[in-house]
Amino acid sequence: MICTRARSLVVTFCVSIPGIAQVPPAIAGIRGGTFPDRWITGGPKCVEVPDWQVHEYNEDLFMIRESGCTDPEKPFLYLFFGKDRALLQDTGSGPAETARVVTGSISQWLRDHKRASIPLVVTHSHSHGDHIAGDSQFKSMPGVSMVPLTVTGTQQFFGIRNWPTDIGQIDLGDRIIDVIPIPGHDILSLALYDRQTGILITGDSLYPGRIYVRDFEAFKASTQRLVDFTRDRIVTHILGCHIEQSTTPYVDYPIGTRYAPYELPAALSRAHLLEMNEALKEMKESRDRKLLRDFTIWPIDAQHPFPHPIPTAKP
Ligand SMILES: [Zn+2]
Repeated sequence: MICTRARSLVVTFCVSIPGIAQVPPAIAGIRGGTFPDRWITGGPKCVEVPDWQVHEYNEDLFMIRESGCTDPEKPFLYLFFGKDRALLQDTGSGPAETARVVTGSISQWLRDHKRASIPLVVTHSHSHGDHIAGDSQFKSMPGVSMVPLTVTGTQQFFGIRNWPTDIGQIDLGDRIIDVIPIPGHDILSLALYDRQTGILITGDSLYPGRIYVRDFEAFKASTQRLVDFTRDRIVTHILGCHIEQSTTPYVDYPIGTRYAPYELPAALSRAHLLEMNEALKEMKESRDRKLLRDFTIWPIDAQHPFPHPIPTAKP
């Protein structure tokens, strides 16, 4: 069944069309949503590609992806809406006009919900430069609170008593998001669990691509904590901040690829988290890269340097 809302009439038309996907119903109190058939990435002709692709997973969760033509990292941003506040995770990479696309998405939400304004909290999956490039565009905006890019500031903001073993929360208004410290890729890595959709956002610590591990023991412990946290919870999807893996098993796109027409879908499942946890246990003696079907665990240390520099935040 397809439902179309004519905004001028505030009427919903519903037509049954066999074979066409619909927004799945809520299951066990979990709200459903959809993904696009494919992400645009960047190219093949950049003049024909928008700077951002905005997708509404549902009307209260926007996925915003930066074009590979602007920056080959092509990061994903997530914008959650509750009754009282909106929450943005990450602000883009490179020369990104992030505030423009985010305020446009917020304006659309406000129009759809007949609201005049909503405060915005800006948080980060972690502190690397490909996730914080647009911060300065938000800092002086009215109604915006920035979560500090420090462990102490992050703890205070989300009420995380002991770092990294305790879990914090933020209530957006009838929408609680759990905030789980998962250091290892970066000291400030955070996972977000949205109780409303059952989506777990894992930043750069799990996505279809190269999982760079800077602090192996911390990363291993963080992954085990995520496994424990999700044991008794519904996990509809695991979403990270990049896609680098191709649809050919075990094969990723080279670093710096802008146009990736055969990339894997963004969503992973808890099975991938379990697979990563098992692989990390086996890797305790060897820090060589571990190729898995849909992602690669890529330790970084003196013997295994990072393949290209990561700009790191200076809090
Ligand atoms: Zn990244």
